[in-house]
Amino acid sequence: MSDLTIYNTLSRQKEKFEPINPPYVGLYCCGPTVYSDVHLGNTRTFISFDLVYRYLKFLGYKVRYVRNITDAGHLTNEAGEGKNRMEDQAKLEKLEPMEIVQKYTVGFHEVCRLFNLLPPTIEPTATGHIVEQIEMTQKLIDNGVAYASNGSVYFDVNAYNAKGNNYGKLSGRNIDELIAGYRDLDGQDEKRNSIDFALWKKASPEHIMQWNSPWGSGFPGWHLECSVMSTKYLGKQFDIHAGGMDLKFPHHECEIAQNVGACGNEPVRYWMHTNMLNFNGQKMSKSLGNSILPMQFITGEHPLLDKPYSAMTVRFLFMQSHYSSELDITIKGLQDAEKGLRKLMNAAKYLAELKFDTATSDEQQDKLIQELCNECKTVMDDDFNAPKLLATLYELATQINIYYNDGKKVSNISKATFNQLQTTYNGYLFDVLGLSDEAAAGNNDALDKVMQLVIDIRKQSRETKDWTTSDKIRDALKNAGIEIKDSKDGTTYEIG
Ligand code: AMP
Ligand code: ZN
Repeated sequence: MSDLTIYNTLSRQKEKFEPINPPYVGLYCCGPTVYSDVHLGNTRTFISFDLVYRYLKFLGYKVRYVRNITDAGHLTNEAGEGKNRMEDQAKLEKLEPMEIVQKYTVGFHEVCRLFNLLPPTIEPTATGHIVEQIEMTQKLIDNGVAYASNGSVYFDVNAYNAKGNNYGKLSGRNIDELIAGYRDLDGQDEKRNSIDFALWKKASPEHIMQWNSPWGSGFPGWHLECSVMSTKYLGKQFDIHAGGMDLKFPHHECEIAQNVGACGNEPVRYWMHTNMLNFNGQKMSKSLGNSILPMQFITGEHPLLDKPYSAMTVRFLFMQSHYSSELDITIKGLQDAEKGLRKLMNAAKYLAELKFDTATSDEQQDKLIQELCNECKTVMDDDFNAPKLLATLYELATQINIYYNDGKKVSNISKATFNQLQTTYNGYLFDVLGLSDEAAAGNNDALDKVMQLVIDIRKQSRETKDWTTSDKIRDALKNAGIEIKDSKDGTTYEIG
C-alpha cells in the first residue's frame, strides 16, 4: 500500500512500515495529564502525531487512533512516587479532583480544535479502566514479575530481567546508574530493588482518589494505564506507539516491561518519539516555569511575544521542523511562518480560480509539475518529512502563481497533470498538514464588507484628489498586511 518508512526508536533505525493487519493500523499516543493547561510543548507533540494520523489516513489505512487522558495515577516525580497530580491541584484550586480533570480536559479539547487536530477514534481515561488495571497487576503477580508489599504492588525488574528480558532497552539507560539514582527516594524500603516501579499504590486515608483492590484501597501507577488501554483497544501487539521523547524513560520503558510481563510478547512494532519544543534553548516545561500557553500566542498576551500569532501560524512553524528535531521557538520564526502560511494559502485560492485551457502541452512543464506532485509523497514517505513537504509545496505555489498572473489560464500541461496538481496541492496542504485558511475560515464575510467600505472611501478620496486620506488608507492597510490591487475590472484586496 505504501513505501512509508518510520524511524523506530526501539531499533534506532528507519524501517519500512508494514502494518500487522493491513489496511488496519493501530496507533497509540500518550495523552495529557489533565491537572493543568497543556502548554505549547505538549501541543507540539500532539500536532506531530496528528500529522502521522492524517498521513496514514491519507494513504488509505483504516486507523484506530487511541490517545488517552491521564486523570489518575500520574505522580509528582519521575520515579513514579510522590503525590497524585490531580489531587494536589484540586487542593490548590479548592475543587474536586474530577472538577480539575473536567476543567483541563475541556481546555485541552479546545486547544485541539484551535490547532485543527483530528479527534482520536478512542479517547479512554485512566479512571475508566481501574478494573482492567487491577487485572493486569494480578496477572503480573501471577507471572512472577510483580509482588505486593505493604498494600502496594511493585514490578520486579530483576525477576523480569532474569527471564531473559532487558529493562532499559528502549531508553538505553544503565540499570546500575538507575539504582544509584533512586536509592534516596521515598518508599524504597517497601521494594526489593530501588528501580522497581509501582503498579498499584496504597492510599493513605486522606487520598481522595482511591479504589478497592485485592491489596487494599489504593490507586494505579501511571505507567500501567497505557499498557492496559493500548492492549484493550489495539491488541497485545499493535503497530505504532507514540509520545514525547521525555516519556521514553521511565514511562515507555515500564510500559514495555508490563506488556511483556503480562502478555508474553513485545507490544509495539514501531516506537515513535517527538523531540522537545524549546524556549530560549531550554525544554518548555511547566516545572521549569518557561511554558507558554497556546492561548497566549493567539491573544499575544505574553511578555515575550511582539503580537498575537494565529494557531495556524504556530502549526505551520511546527511543520517547518521534522518531528524528531528539537525546535526552538523565536519571534523571527513566527514571523516567517506567518508569511509562509499566507503564501501557500493564497496559492490555494488562486489554484481554485485557474481555468484549464486546451492549448499546447509543454512536455517539460508537464514533467516538472508531475515530479513536484510525486515529490510530496516521496518526502512524506520518508518518516513524515513535513519540512521537505512544505518546501515542495512552495515550489508548486510558485508555479500556480505564474499561471494565475498569466490570465489565470493553464494551457501548457495536460488535463491529467492539472488534475494531479489540484488534488496533490489541496490534499497535502489541507488534509495532510492540517493547515487551514484562517482568513477564509474566520470572519471573511465581515472582513469583505469592511474592506468594500474602505475601498469605496479610498476611491472617493482619489476622485476628489484627497491624497492625504488615500495615502493614509494605503499605509494603514499595508501595516495590517493587506494589499490593495487595482485593475481594469476594479479593486480587490489580498492578505499577506
Ligand atoms: P504530560 O501532560 O506532561 O504527560 O505531557 C503530554 C505530552 O507532551 C507527552 O507526550 C510529553 O512527552 C509531551 N511534552 C512535554 N513537554 C514537551 C515539550 N517541551 N516539547 C514537546 N513535547 C512535550
Ligand atoms: Zn502513556
